[in-house]
Amino acid sequence: MSRTMPLAENREQTDVLVIGAGLAGLVAAAEALDAGRSVMVLDQENEANLGGQAWWSFGGLFLIDSPEQRRLGIRDSLELARGDWLATAGFDRDTDVWGRQWAEAYLDFAAG
Ligand SMILES: Cc1cc2nc3c(=O)[nH]c(=O)nc-3n(C[C@H](O)[C@H](O)[C@H](O)COP(=O)(O)OP(=O)(O)OC[C@H]3O[C@@H](n4cnc5c(N)ncnc54)[C@H](O)[C@@H]3O)c2cc1C
Repeated sequence: MSRTMPLAENREQTDVLVIGAGLAGLVAAAEALDAGRSVMVLDQENEANLGGQAWWSFGGLFLIDSPEQRRLGIRDSLELARGDWLATAGFDRDTDVWGRQWAEAYLDFAAG
């Protein structure tokens, strides 16, 4: 059951309060329910956006030059993917060093 109400008016009790209904929060809520706890999930977004970023990803998967792409004749490569990622991310500050390293690691993973 889901409800939208101002927090100040909400006097319900719960064993577990999960803040954020993204994948992490929903998995935590499911685990708590499986363990027999009562669970309340709060999110800053409305019900239509349940799932956080997963809602926006549409269940999409980031794969590079996969067998399926090759089978369909889709040209792809690590270099193309890296170019797309770097052009979108626009890493241009010293503080981007970790973001860039993460991107490189993820690109290698997705191309494997
Ligand atoms: C277009 C797109 C494609 C993607 N493709 C892939 C992919 O191929 N492979 C992959 O591994 N990952 C992919 N991702 C990333 C993946 O979807 C996210 O890493 C994952 O969904 C994050 O889940 P999360 O629960 O950690 O965080 P989030 O989904 O960000 O959830 C956090 C939730 O907390 C809520 N919240 C935040 N602050 C508050 C607050 N103060 N009070 C109440 N609620 C709050 C937010 O509204 C949100 O619902 C993609 C993401 C996008 C957008």
